[in-house]
Amino acid sequence: MKLIYSDEYSKVDIGEHVFPVLKYRLIKEKLLEEGIVKKNDFIEPEPIKDEELLLVHTEEYIEKLKNGKLSFEEELKLEIPYSPQLYLASKICVNGTIIALEFALKEGIGIHIGGGFHHAYPDHGEGFCVLNDIAVAIKKIKKEGKIKKAVVIDCDLHQGNGTAFIFKNDTDTFTFSIHQENLYPVPKERSNLDIGLKDGTGDDEYMELLEKYIPEILDKFKPDACIYQAGVDPYKEDQLGNLNLTKDGLKMRDEFIIENLRKRNIPTAITLGGGYSPNILDTVSLHIQTIKTAIKKY
Ligand SMILES: [Zn+2]
Repeated sequence: MKLIYSDEYSKVDIGEHVFPVLKYRLIKEKLLEEGIVKKNDFIEPEPIKDEELLLVHTEEYIEKLKNGKLSFEEELKLEIPYSPQLYLASKICVNGTIIALEFALKEGIGIHIGGGFHHAYPDHGEGFCVLNDIAVAIKKIKKEGKIKKAVVIDCDLHQGNGTAFIFKNDTDTFTFSIHQENLYPVPKERSNLDIGLKDGTGDDEYMELLEKYIPEILDKFKPDACIYQAGVDPYKEDQLGNLNLTKDGLKMRDEFIIENLRKRNIPTAITLGGGYSPNILDTVSLHIQTIKTAIKKY
């Protein structure tokens, strides 16, 4: 199994920050250490070309990123400091999700050790998200005629507001988001289906909701491909949220989503999304749990 990854993701210097940029490299190292993958199983994407970003993003925004000209307010909204390395890593990341989706179309599954930057809008970044890799990947693969209909299953703690906004008038892309209601982003965009969870929601209630909605969405909408945003910030220890999912609960979530896609032969690209446990090693092990679940099923 090939995994898509770049060393550049962990080289972005954002100083003391809740976003654990180191997690990407630690995930790679742990996967190697555990013998789950070999050294040459990693594919390093090139950065996407600026003009290809125009599938989703505005020319004005790309110019600002290229030239380091974000305003003070724009950088505040992004919630991480701009640097040329941040833009480079973000462009590699967009291509990484594209490659994961291309892999999925060939092999059934594509795993990106990165991505899931669902808060990025066409004309601005926010909530640690510079470029919306999910949206660019879907638009590019659609434009090339490789798929017609796509579904985004977004299980991050936070609502996928950027993705929902980008696809709001696209009847060929179904956006699903299950997230903590009483949390950033406020106000929220409208996905095709939003499930806003109350504080303290635990494993059982979460799984009941997935069982109620996921099979029905897949059967009714019949997508040609899926991008699964597998954020691990719904975890009970997470510093940014108040959901109460356990490690086993997140494993059940991943198994349920991936199995429902696999048995319907829906090609699936996995992106990591958020994860802000006080101990970075918990975040790393939760992401590895997702990756292992996917490898096991394919
Ligand atoms: Zn999140």
